[in-house]
Amino acid sequence: MRRGNLIVLSGPSGVGKDTLLSRLIERVPGVVKCLTATTRAPREGEQHGVDYLFLSPEQFAAWISQGKFLEHAHYNEQYYGTPLHLVEEARARGLDVILKIEVQGGLQVRQRVPEAILIFVQPPSLEVLRQRLTARGTDSPEQIASRLHIAEQEMRAIPHYDYLVTNDTIEEAVDLLRAILLAERARIRKEG
Ligand code: 5GP
Repeated sequence: MRRGNLIVLSGPSGVGKDTLLSRLIERVPGVVKCLTATTRAPREGEQHGVDYLFLSPEQFAAWISQGKFLEHAHYNEQYYGTPLHLVEEARARGLDVILKIEVQGGLQVRQRVPEAILIFVQPPSLEVLRQRLTARGTDSPEQIASRLHIAEQEMRAIPHYDYLVTNDTIEEAVDLLRAILLAERARIRKEG
């Protein structure tokens, strides 16, 4: 059986990665999102084992020292990491595994798994991102300013990614992501 691809999906907060990912999973059979771990507290409605594996800082540190993470990063004062075994099990079953992770983690995956496919989702402009974050209504003006600052920094990692998708309209962005996944399944030559 063909081993599934490993795909990293990164992009600034508020760019619409969750919506794109759920639409993509609906449209392309054989794609799964990998559950990841975090030390942050669950938000309302979030469940352990569904949204994240919610670990204490001590558990997270133990997992790091036991080599259980494919990558891990410190982001927004919390730790986030991808459990290696979840990625390996899904890929061994022939599934394409998508990691929705921030850029520090994406670059670690690039180092450790050279054949990984890195996709960056950008907003049409920072101004559009500001409008979307404002419309979402979950952040204070200070938090929005901080997210925009982080977004600018994250966008500096774009040259290290393989594909750039602009989320202008959701339909077009999902079409493009689907095309990338299908083309990558047909690839013969793997670089790395
Ligand atoms: P949030 O706290 O809003 O759920 O996630 C914050 C950021 O951490 C998002 O960009 C999310 O994609 C990223 N993230 C989630 N899980 C992981 C992970 O396992 N590793 C890394 N490097 N980033 C993650």
